[in-house]
Amino acid sequence: MTSIETGEINDTFSVFIRIRPLLERELKAGSENCLAVSDTDFPRDPPPQRIVVQAGDASLKGSYVFNRVFEQSMSQEAVFNSTAKPFVQEFLAGTNVTIFAYGQTGTGKTYTIFGPAEDPGIVTRSLSDIFEKMPAGKELHYEYVQLYLDDFKDLLADASGLGKLVEGNAGVELLGLSSHKATSASEILQAVAKGATRRATRAQDMNEVSTRSHAILMLRLKEGDGGDVFSSMFIVDLAGSERVARSGVTGDGFTEATNVNLSLTALGRVVMSLIEADITQTKAFIPYNASPLTMLLKAGLGGNSKTALIACVTQAADSLSESVSTLRFAMQAS
Ligand code: ADP
Ligand code: MG
Repeated sequence: MTSIETGEINDTFSVFIRIRPLLERELKAGSENCLAVSDTDFPRDPPPQRIVVQAGDASLKGSYVFNRVFEQSMSQEAVFNSTAKPFVQEFLAGTNVTIFAYGQTGTGKTYTIFGPAEDPGIVTRSLSDIFEKMPAGKELHYEYVQLYLDDFKDLLADASGLGKLVEGNAGVELLGLSSHKATSASEILQAVAKGATRRATRAQDMNEVSTRSHAILMLRLKEGDGGDVFSSMFIVDLAGSERVARSGVTGDGFTEATNVNLSLTALGRVVMSLIEADITQTKAFIPYNASPLTMLLKAGLGGNSKTALIACVTQAADSLSESVSTLRFAMQAS
């Protein structure tokens, strides 16, 4: 598609791969690296990179080419600089932008989006950039919402249940969602950390729910005194992309796993339609209405907006088949 034939990075939609290193316990258990990365000889600077699956059974072996691979040694800062940093500029200049972390549970989505306090991820770094460069006369407002099955939950308020998605003047809005004016980055970070403790629980523990739900941070740049929305930045920690069979859930859990994957599938379809429309320069039908996820994020997907998807995979052998699914998904989206 766009990548290899033209040698250009599609500037409406960019796909990045991030490989997480083996963790201490995996190294202790004797795991070896499954993925090797090398430059291709395509004449572009920097050249596209090839990921070769160098372990596992024959059906999983193969090689995948991407414009940009963040190897396991890549720092949080370098990942930010290549993904969200240019988006912050766009956002401050009035463009809607969206960043997704996609991948199987345990591959580094939350690490990439939020990260540990001592080495923070995209959210913290974006916020410090935003507050540093905030244009005069503008305000930053924020919303933080969880999507679990078909239910939205406001992570910044104790009230239960949220209303419907409606077309508002700033795009699709979620009725009843609390929006907060921020005076500093640390204020938002504290609210988001508190929000994490509200992540829905039914019978499951929090870890289970956070694995199966999408967490969506929405930053809104508004004209002064709570005026109109000037631009939106969506930062999304997606639900785990693993298949039902692997997660081993049954009964109720089965519905959940398939449902979560439905909204990921819908996201995939929107992305493919956007890329198709971009390549053929036609006005295609984009199936935003197929899931609450794509409906909510409509303003940040397609049109004049910019989107980046960071597909996370791990070096670990026991996740290889899921890693290969992620690479295939990401190749299609490149
Ligand atoms: P996910 O959100 O995809 O389920 P996490 O972000 O929770 O995955 O990451 C799983 C584990 O791997 C965590 O212990 C995290 O600290 C660690 N980890 C993820 N990415 C990296 C990385 N690039 N470098 C070091 N450790 C990482
Ligand atoms: Mg996570």
